[in-house]
Amino acid sequence: MNSIYTCESGTGSAKLLYSADSIPGVNISPGTEGFKVIGGDCYCLAFMNGDSLGWVRAKATGGKADYEDIGCPDSRLSAFEFGTVEGGSYEYDCPNCGTPLALRYAERFILNGSVSDKAGLINEDLKKKQEDFLSPSKEDLEYQGDPSDCEEHKANPEHYRTTDDLRIAGVAILNEKYLTVNVDGYWYGGGAHGYPNRNQYMYDLKTGKQVTIKDLYPAPEEVFKTLVAEQTVKNMQSYDPDQSPYFASDANELYQQAFDSASLETTYIEFGKDEAYIVYSPYDMGAYASGYIEVPVSYKDLLGRPSL
Ligand SMILES: [Zn+2]
Repeated sequence: MNSIYTCESGTGSAKLLYSADSIPGVNISPGTEGFKVIGGDCYCLAFMNGDSLGWVRAKATGGKADYEDIGCPDSRLSAFEFGTVEGGSYEYDCPNCGTPLALRYAERFILNGSVSDKAGLINEDLKKKQEDFLSPSKEDLEYQGDPSDCEEHKANPEHYRTTDDLRIAGVAILNEKYLTVNVDGYWYGGGAHGYPNRNQYMYDLKTGKQVTIKDLYPAPEEVFKTLVAEQTVKNMQSYDPDQSPYFASDANELYQQAFDSASLETTYIEFGKDEAYIVYSPYDMGAYASGYIEVPVSYKDLLGRPSL
C-alpha cells in the first residue's frame, strides 16, 4: 500500500491525502506511479476498465482517492485480455517470538474458459506453481529457533526478514497454439541488492499441457548445445567490446562456457511471437549489473521451421 501526504513547508505538518492498494496483475506502484501535481490536482497512472492502464486525476476524500478518467489511456495489460490475476501470500514467523522471518507474495494467472477448453487443466497447473511458491521452505520447516536469537529478532526485525515476490509480467497467445505466462520476481534478504527471478511457462492450448524446449526441440542435445554456443558468441560479437554484458571477452572462452552449460533440461528459453530468446540470469554469464542477457534465436535456427 502507498500513501500520499501533503506537507506544509512552513509548519512541517503532514496530512494524509489518500492511500492506494496494489492490485494483482497490475505491476505498478499504486497511487504513485507517474505521480504529478498540475494546477493543484494530483495525477497518476491507474488500473482502468478492468484491463488497462490510464492517466487519472486523483481526487482525495477521507484518505481514499476517486480516480477520474481524463481520457488519456496508457497501455493494455495483456493478462486481462485472456483472463484474470489473483494474489496470494505466505508468512513464516519465528516459532519463539513471532517475528516475521519470511514474507512471500505470488500472483497466479487464471485463463478464461473461452480461450481454450483445456483452461481448467492449465489453471490447475498454474495454481500448483503458486501454491509451491507459497509453501513453507525446507529451511522454514527445519528452523528450530534459538531463543537467544529472539532479542535480535525483536531489535532488528528487518535484518532477519527475507521477502520474495512473484508477479505476472505478461501473457500472450503465440501462433494460436500456445499460451505463455511470464512472471517476474525479486528475492531480498538484506545487503546491497537481492536477486531477480524471471520465468515463462508455456502451455499447449489443445492439450492443456506445459511445453518446454525439451518437448519441441527436433534434434539431439549435442546439436542444441552447439546452437546455443554459436548464438551466444554471435550475440557477444554484436556489442562494442566495452559494452558487452558478458564476463568472457574471448569468443572461444564464451563458446566453451555456453556449450558446457547448455542442456535441454536447464537452458532457459523464452518464446516470443517472432523469435525465441536464450536467457541468461545475472551471474550466469555476466555481472549482476548486466541484468538478464537475452540472446535472440530465430525459430528457423531453433526448430527448423519458420514459426513456433
Ligand atoms: Zn525469534
